[in-house]
Amino acid sequence: MSDPNELTVLNPATEEVVATVPAATAEDVDAAVVRAARAQTRWAALAPADRARLLRRFADVVDAHTEELAQLEVREAGHTVANARWEAGNARDLLLYAAGGAERLVGRQIPVPGGWDVTFQEPLGVIGVIAPWNFPMPIAAWGSFPALAAGNAVLLKPAETTPLTALRLAGLALEAGLPEHLFQVLPGHGGTAGRALVDHPDVAKIVFTGSTRTGREVMERCARLVKPVTLELGGKSPNVVFADADLKAALDPFSFLDNAGQDCCARTRVLVQETVLDEARAFLADALAAVVVGDPADEKTQMGPLISGRQLERVRSYVPDDAPALRGEAPDGPGFWFPPTVLTGERHDSPAAREEIFGPVAVLLPFTDEQDAIRLANDTPYGLSGSIWTRDVGRALRVSQAVRAGNLSVNSHSSVRYWTPFGGYKQSGLGRELGPDALTAFTETKNVFLSTEVPAP
Ligand code: NDP
Repeated sequence: MSDPNELTVLNPATEEVVATVPAATAEDVDAAVVRAARAQTRWAALAPADRARLLRRFADVVDAHTEELAQLEVREAGHTVANARWEAGNARDLLLYAAGGAERLVGRQIPVPGGWDVTFQEPLGVIGVIAPWNFPMPIAAWGSFPALAAGNAVLLKPAETTPLTALRLAGLALEAGLPEHLFQVLPGHGGTAGRALVDHPDVAKIVFTGSTRTGREVMERCARLVKPVTLELGGKSPNVVFADADLKAALDPFSFLDNAGQDCCARTRVLVQETVLDEARAFLADALAAVVVGDPADEKTQMGPLISGRQLERVRSYVPDDAPALRGEAPDGPGFWFPPTVLTGERHDSPAAREEIFGPVAVLLPFTDEQDAIRLANDTPYGLSGSIWTRDVGRALRVSQAVRAGNLSVNSHSSVRYWTPFGGYKQSGLGRELGPDALTAFTETKNVFLSTEVPAP
């Protein structure tokens, strides 16, 4: 049972306590909204170039602290140190990208009879960002930094298991000279601090990343206030591997093992053309056996632990001991460890093949031809991501047009770049983050008509 007044942050590799943090109450959220609203009014009144200059300074300060932020992420989230360094760099780079956006956020002039017509992109006000524990720093940044650049204030509620990098980022923002109360972090429980943000009438928009179940609740509550919401939810992404593909690249196990599989874009449905299924199975068996799982602070480690005992139980529930599977190794003893696993005896409609497991577990499934591959790839309530591997360019184009998902890669497993839009189809979400339009999602469009008719005397 978690303490309503305090968050205990555990190192998932050792189960040792890293820190305890007071949990924000609903009253704390109310007070933070009042402070943020005041700060936002002044921030929005600054010239865009001045906001951009302060955000670039913030990026410089983050840059000077990337190693500290990375080490914090290793301790609180169990990420490998190489991944954690990339994550801190991603937060810095997004600040620079968003700063440029502040200077380029322009309206339009639309030709109309009898006057001039212009549009303005005005900030929404106070934005609530609710972040998960799987990528605490990048996902907090994706919601918060474009919102700040567009002239809003941000209240960020990190996941209760991973509040530390978010708190540090807010400290660095102050060090960089961002106005007080403009970017506040409210560590707390989802059911209290998270809900208070969602229900607050003066929080103008919610950006939520997490499970489809909680996302649905957030959306329902936002609907009561007609509050806009961006949802980045779960996934069960296909990796479609045709027989003519570069099998070694296509079956890179880190397409589903990165971050111990706690990645909404993980390619956990490995769909392989039946003529190369045996070859794929043999390759994956060797690849899983070679994965180095262990202390995430060790530079040689490729995969760390799961985030929590709760998540470990959830992952275990999909992998009975006697399930037909290819398995790698994982440490014993303290820590939330699970070995790299590919289930080989599942059907397309079994829970392990349909539900988001959020651990280092994929399912290997055969398909016959292009139409069968498309059908299976789309046979899911999710639509976030996916890969298509073939040397046939025409087929690559046809399949990438036919698969209903927001982020596809052909002959690659890449998903998220801060300069391209990111988000899901179907129950994987609503709206897009990142990319050239990221700031616009944090604005209202105002249309103003100015009459040029000479008024009657
Ligand atoms: P949740 O969706 O419950 O948590 C995500 C965030 O929402 C956390 O900050 C959480 O706070 C907060 N939250 C929880 N309940 C509410 C609420 N009623 N109102 C507002 N905010 C709320 O995910 P879980 O941590 O429970 O993970 C469960 C599963 O969700 C995973 O196994 C995975 O399948 C999926 N998931 C998907 C993610 C993605 O990137 N798409 C990210 C994380 C999880 P608190 O930490 O206090 O619970």
